[in-house]
Amino acid sequence: MSVYRDKAVVLGSYKFGEADRVVVLLTENHGKIRAVAKGVRKTKSSIGARLEPMSHVDISLRSGRELDTVDQVKLIYAHQRLRDDFDRLRQGLSMVEAMNKITPDREPVQHLYELLSRALHALDERPAPLMLAAFFWRLLSIEGYTPQLDVCVACGEEGELVSFDVVEGGAHCGSCRTGVPISAPSLAIIRLILGGRMNEALAMPESMAVNEVNHLAMEAMEAHLERRLRSLGVFDRHL
Ligand SMILES: [Zn+2]
Repeated sequence: MSVYRDKAVVLGSYKFGEADRVVVLLTENHGKIRAVAKGVRKTKSSIGARLEPMSHVDISLRSGRELDTVDQVKLIYAHQRLRDDFDRLRQGLSMVEAMNKITPDREPVQHLYELLSRALHALDERPAPLMLAAFFWRLLSIEGYTPQLDVCVACGEEGELVSFDVVEGGAHCGSCRTGVPISAPSLAIIRLILGGRMNEALAMPESMAVNEVNHLAMEAMEAHLERRLRSLGVFDRHL
């Protein structure tokens, strides 16, 4: 078995056998990897403490046929400030959860690794009302779902846009309106986020528009995850 080393963000873990855990990692160069961390549930294992969700690690892995095995782990960032603040903790966990659902196993996705590690780092440095929403909009756009915000997504009308439809992926004019109402300031904020002016968006204090953008981001992300599961046939199997 060969050993390889990579940087990774821990997405989550689950119990495995009597004393082990399987850790799900988003690595910089090898994509999403599932690796067995041996014995971490039996003793007060220091390896286990370094493999908490959201931790940023430098890790050596032994490759296996289905599951790899954790060899050594060095903590790069524990993101402790984020863990000590309930609201930021919730946002960070939503980020790793969405990333876990979106990424396939063993397919290099360096841009997603970079997006996640930067977002967790920023969230650890300071709270921002739009942090999670900005992450979701960027993630959706990388996934190919950049919303249409400049003209009506249904008819192409360039006038006032009054609603946003997460399924159709964009804003609607007054005659085509479906989805939820959206204000002009909210549309402007989403344009800032997707137009690369992230710092301006993250500096914004709470407001009605900020709340609206947050709600829409959650809905758009949920709609995308559902679409994703459907395309994998997950729902059909249970019907
Ligand atoms: Zn229209």
